[in-house]
Order: sequence, then C-alpha cells, then structure tokens
Amino acid sequence: KTLFVPKETADAETRVAASPDTVKKLKGLGFDVVVESGAGLKSRMDDEAFRAAGAEIAGPEAAANADVIFRVRRPGEQEFFGYKSGAIVIATMDPYGHEDALAAMAGKGISAFAMELMPRITRAQSMDVLSSQANLAGYQAVIEAASVFDRAMPMMMTAAGTVPAARVFVMGAGVAGLQAIATARRLGAVVSATDVRPAAKEQVASLGAKFIAVEDDEFKAAETAGGYAKEMSAEYQAKQAELVASHIAKQDIVITTALIPGRPAPRLVSRQMLSAMKLGSVAVDLAVERGGNIEGAVAGAVTEVEGVNVIGYENLPGRIAASASALYAKNLLTFFETLVDKETGDLKINREDELVAATLLTHEGALVHPKFGGQPA
Ligand code: NAD
Repeated sequence: KTLFVPKETADAETRVAASPDTVKKLKGLGFDVVVESGAGLKSRMDDEAFRAAGAEIAGPEAAANADVIFRVRRPGEQEFFGYKSGAIVIATMDPYGHEDALAAMAGKGISAFAMELMPRITRAQSMDVLSSQANLAGYQAVIEAASVFDRAMPMMMTAAGTVPAARVFVMGAGVAGLQAIATARRLGAVVSATDVRPAAKEQVASLGAKFIAVEDDEFKAAETAGGYAKEMSAEYQAKQAELVASHIAKQDIVITTALIPGRPAPRLVSRQMLSAMKLGSVAVDLAVERGGNIEGAVAGAVTEVEGVNVIGYENLPGRIAASASALYAKNLLTFFETLVDKETGDLKINREDELVAATLLTHEGALVHPKFGGQPA
C-alpha cells in the first residue's frame, strides 16, 4: 500500500502532514511512503531528510497511485479528481459551510477524515490537531504582538529609569488562550484573561493571571458536555462588553481567541474599545479566519484601527511551521495507526469505532457524517 504526502497547495500554507520521524513509523507499518518534492521545505524538512527516513520523492502526479493521502488542508477538486476512487484522505477538512466540497469528495469515492472533529477523549489526546496547533498559535500570538509592540514586556529597573511591565489581556482561555497567558507571563507581562466557560476561571488563575468576567447564572451554565463554549445571549454579551470596555482601556496588548465550534466567531472588541486604548497598543485576533473577534481586523494583515495595531494573521501555526508540522504529523500518525490492522497490516475503516464515527465525512460514495446530513453506521 502507498501513502502520499503532497506539498500543500494553499499559498499561505507552510506546514506539511508528515515528518521524517513519522515517515519512519509509517514505513514500519508496512506502507510505501511517497513525499512530494519540496513538501517540507517551509517546515525545514528537505527532500534529503525524507529520503533518509525511507520515503520516495516524487512529483504531484504520484497522488494518483496512493491508497492514503496525508494533508494539512482539504484537497481542492483539482487535486482530488486525480486520486484513486476509494483513497483515504486525512486532513483538516474545514467542513462547516463547505458541504459542496464534501459532496464532491463523496462523489469521487474518497474516504475523507476531518482531524478537527476528533473527540476530546483521553484515547484521542495524541491525535488532537486543534490542541497541538492552538497551543502553538497561542504562543506565536504573543511573539507577534511583542515584535510589533514598541515597549518592553517585562518591568525593567535600570539606572536610567523604570520601564513598566506591559499589560496583556487574553480573551478566550481555551488551549490557545492558556498558552498565550503562559507565554506573556514568561515574558514578564501583567496578564489578565476572560472566558465564558466557568472552568476557565481556575485555569487562568493557576497560570498567575487575573480572571475578568461577569459571573452570573448564565455564565455558570455556559459549558457544553464536550467542554466547549455555548453562544451567549445578547444580554450577557452586553454586560460582558461593558466590563471588558473599562478593562481594555488600561491594556497594552489584547489577544483574542474566542471561538464556538461551527459558528461565526463572537465579536468581542469594538472600534470604540480600541479607541480607548493607548496609542501604540497592539491587538491580535486569532479568530480572524472565522469572522474575527475584533472589529476592523483584516485577515492576513496588520492594520491600524483607532491607533491600535491589529494583527490578523491567518494560520499562526504556519508562522511557526517547523514545530507545527512536527506535532501535526504526529497527530496524523497516531490516528492512522488505529486504521491499520496490527496483525495483517491491512487498512480497516471500522465505523463502530468512535474515533472513526466522529471524523469520517465521506465513505463509499456517500456523505456519512451525521452533522453534515449523512447517516451514521
Ligand atoms: P475553542 O478554540 O473552541 O475556543 C477558545 C475559547 O474561547 C474557549 O475557551 C471558549 O470558551 C472561549 N469563548 C467562546 N466564546 C467566548 C466569548 N464570547 N467570550 C470569551 N471567551 C469565549 O476552545 P479550545 O481551545 O478548543 O478548548 C475548549 C475546551 O476543550 C477547553 O475546556 C479545553 O481545556 C478543552 N480541551 C479538552 C481536551 C481533551 O482532550 N480533553 C483537549 C483540548 C481542549
């Protein structure tokens, strides 16, 4: 059986779905691994390193012979029309709102797995691409902010006077937000954070940051069984906005990471709030790809809004590509191992397995995921 790792086709995508390390393991599972020439260059993994790990290096046409394809992003039609019918494709599929693309993949007979739908259970922790990538994104957000910010992050007492510590406010304390808090603390900033999930309060405090939120009854019930945020009522959002407005005016850096799965990102920071911040303040919007938490944030750019530098880079993990690819590749490998029969080495898609049930979008010519109109097994 052959497994192919293409060079990503999206312009801004710097990551790759396998590493020399995971190629060795995939070979060990009995697969012939073919890596597209240059696939890992932007992640500091060259053809030579992949070859040394046992991969064959080829052009994009090698996809046509592959039984399995590992990708970072969902393939475009141009790509998957060249795949074998029955090929397994494992990637982040960005399925919400892209049902047409899913139907087209089903039509082509592809078995498509969406890594971002992996359930958050203990068994799947090492396969959780949302966590591995969000963790790096949270770190990188602070690094990007610090490099645009024209003052120091830590307090510095020098013979020439004292530089005050920067004040950093993190909105959304999930995986990315918690890492942003930890990173800003390591750099010496005074950090505060908010979230709508009550469980976040303790986590924020344990990292040495101050928790800021309206803690009413709605807040106390705002977590889903899966541990995700619920969409908050207009009343709650208004109360929270008022609290945040007065807090933000005293901050130097705001980092927003608030998301609700399958919904547009909640708008948390208005132009008016930005205008109350000091000149030269910095804001980073990690939710920009999903509509943004910050008014005026532009996807893929740094813009000045009301005197605040608003960083709207999409794909922050891609700006720390070598680390992001290494972890992403490991996530895919560990999931893929569950699809390979240990004794025979055969590929087996067991739709009874909860990992498969949660991630398999298309199979045997049909859309099968219940969230996208499919029938469960
Ligand atoms: P996410 O990326 O979906 O959202 C980021 C954060 O934004 C969340 O904390 C969310 O509560 C918050 N948010 C949403 N709306 C908001 C609003 N209006 N104002 C402020 N904050 C808002 O979340 P995530 O990083 O994927 O984490 C979600 C949860 O899953 C967390 O509890 C995390 O600890 C948990 N988790 C569990 C596992 C596991 O394997 N058990 C793995 C990773 C994460």
